[in-house]
This record gives sequence, C-alpha cells and structure tokens, in this order.
Amino acid sequence: MSWYCGACGSEVSSDAKFCGSCGKPRVAQQGATPPLPAAPPFPNPVGPPMPGQQIQYVHVASPGTNGYAIASLVLSLVSACGIGSILAIVFGNMAKKEIAISGEGGSGLAKAGIIIGWIGLGIVVAYFAVVIIAIFASAGSNY
Ligand SMILES: [Zn+2]
Repeated sequence: MSWYCGACGSEVSSDAKFCGSCGKPRVAQQGATPPLPAAPPFPNPVGPPMPGQQIQYVHVASPGTNGYAIASLVLSLVSACGIGSILAIVFGNMAKKEIAISGEGGSGLAKAGIIIGWIGLGIVVAYFAVVIIAIFASAGSNY
C-alpha cells in the first residue's frame, strides 16, 4: 500500500512517515481535510404544520337574529297609519316566542318593536280620536 502526499501529490511508500518529495509528515496530510461539520437541519417554515399545531376550526354556530324581531322593529318605525304598529306588536310577540324556543338573538329588537309599536298605535288612535271628536264637535256646532 502506498499513499499520496497531500502537499505535492507524490506517491509515498506506506512505510514512510514523511513524503519523500517534499518532506511533509503523513499525519498532516491525513488531517488536512477534516470533514465539514454537518449543517444543522434547517426548519422549513412553509412546510406542512405539525399535527399538534393544527388550528382547531371549532365553529360556534351563531344563532343569528330572529327575523320577526327585525321585522317588528322596522314595522314599528314605519307605523303606516297604525297598520305597521299593529304588525310590529304581532311580530314582536312572535319573535319573543321563537327566541324563547330557539335561543336566537334579537330579543332586544323584539321588545323595542313592541314598545314602539304600542307608542305608534297610541299616537294613531289618539289622532283618530281627536279627528272623530272634532267631527262630532263640528257636527254638533251646526245645530
Ligand atoms: Zn510531498
């Protein structure tokens, strides 16, 4: 067996400790090329998530707002000569029943619709009462 000198490349007898051409010791040649340290494993930031890191998409079902409650509040504001107010009171009570069963949102809207509906209805009733009284008053004055 023979070895090649790392300094000059000459073939050297395996028995020789030093290169016959340049005189470099054999051990120096052998240790001249230490293995490169292994690169640390690079963490892949865009790789698939680890099983323990997966986001739990637990969708809490939103009960939503009861449609009758919305209709009640809208109609109470529209009023429409008392018709909307009456419907607002009816829808508001329907909304309260449905919300009590289903647990939907909108109980505040239903309450507001009923209250505003009663106020609107009261204003309309008072208005017609005044008109009727005025008609009777004017009719009476014709006597
Ligand atoms: Zn040599």
